[in-house]
Amino acid sequence: MAVLVYAETQANKIKKASLECVFYGNKIAEILGTECIALVLGSASDAGDLGIYGASRVIQVSDSSLDAFDSSVHSDVVVQVADQVSADTVILAHSSTGKSLIGRLAAKMKAGSVSGVVGLPNVDNGFTVDKSVFSGKAIASYLIKSDKRVLSLSGNSFKPEAIGAAVAVESTDVTIPASTVKVLEVKREEGIVPLPEAELVVSAGRGMKGPENWGIIEDLATVLGATTACSRPVADIGWRPHHEHVGQTGVAIKPNLYIAAGISGAIQHLAGVNNSKVIVVINKDPEAPFFKAADYGVEGDLFDVVPKLTAALKEYKSSI
Ligand SMILES: Cc1cc2nc3c(=O)[nH]c(=O)nc-3n(C[C@H](O)[C@H](O)[C@H](O)COP(=O)(O)OP(=O)(O)OC[C@H]3O[C@@H](n4cnc5c(N)ncnc54)[C@H](O)[C@@H]3O)c2cc1C
Repeated sequence: MAVLVYAETQANKIKKASLECVFYGNKIAEILGTECIALVLGSASDAGDLGIYGASRVIQVSDSSLDAFDSSVHSDVVVQVADQVSADTVILAHSSTGKSLIGRLAAKMKAGSVSGVVGLPNVDNGFTVDKSVFSGKAIASYLIKSDKRVLSLSGNSFKPEAIGAAVAVESTDVTIPASTVKVLEVKREEGIVPLPEAELVVSAGRGMKGPENWGIIEDLATVLGATTACSRPVADIGWRPHHEHVGQTGVAIKPNLYIAAGISGAIQHLAGVNNSKVIVVINKDPEAPFFKAADYGVEGDLFDVVPKLTAALKEYKSSI
């Protein structure tokens, strides 16, 4: 039996979330006394580097028809390779891609599945794995009773470490089903780390008063190399694009640093951000609920505080 990790690609490169998955898969393989094999579908020039993060083998199906993601086609190919390598455990990132694959894979493999896992399994009495529930307020342990299992790993749960060396990439024969999806256009923001993968996030809410004031948030994000986010009402009224909306009904994030300016800290907002390692809140209302969830709080007018913070960071960066 083996652990098979589905590695996602973007623009011919392996995504960071998949490095975490391979590192996590390696740890599970150690626990189960087996090997961790990475699977890359489509083009990726750095597939062999997955060996550095714990894959003992890397299998790549480089057919260009797999460059465009189709969960029906990709899940079919993953199942074929899982059968070839006798994998009983498949690991995915808990990304939009992983979310669209996990159900199909579980059904096709007759496997138990847990999405958004946050820790290594306990195999003392079966296979039990944890995920966070109730908007991060509790941890639930799931016992998977089937022989096979599919897990999607919550982002930023494991910091990938270099524990091996690059390996030679193997190819394999699979039957690629015809896709029923026709990709008409791909629009991708260049140079911006997507929110689910971002380690630094600068976010703002209705306290900004209007979209024309967002320059100070973008300046702070630029000096930090951070990704920008926003509260839901701000996206709903069109001040910011919807993909920036974080929270219960938006993107759930887990960055190392989350700076929130002019956001009250409603429970639905916290649901998507309270797994951040360090939370900094800037709000002029000392009673704002967000201060209770903050590691650092600045009580003040964001139009005063944010530019000063940006200037101080610029000065610090130029001094090092
Ligand atoms: C079913 C449901 C799902 C929801 N899902 C989400 C979700 O996923 N994400 C989400 O964000 N919300 C969500 N909401 C909405 C949520 O309940 C709040 O209404 C929303 O988060 C509030 O956004 P806000 O903090 O930007 O605005 P407000 O609540 O208006 O807060 C603005 C804050 O800015 C501060 N402020 C104002 N001016 C300044 C200034 N000059 N300097 C400093 N601070 C200032 C104020 O003191 C205040 O705390 C959901 C609601 C429901 C009912």
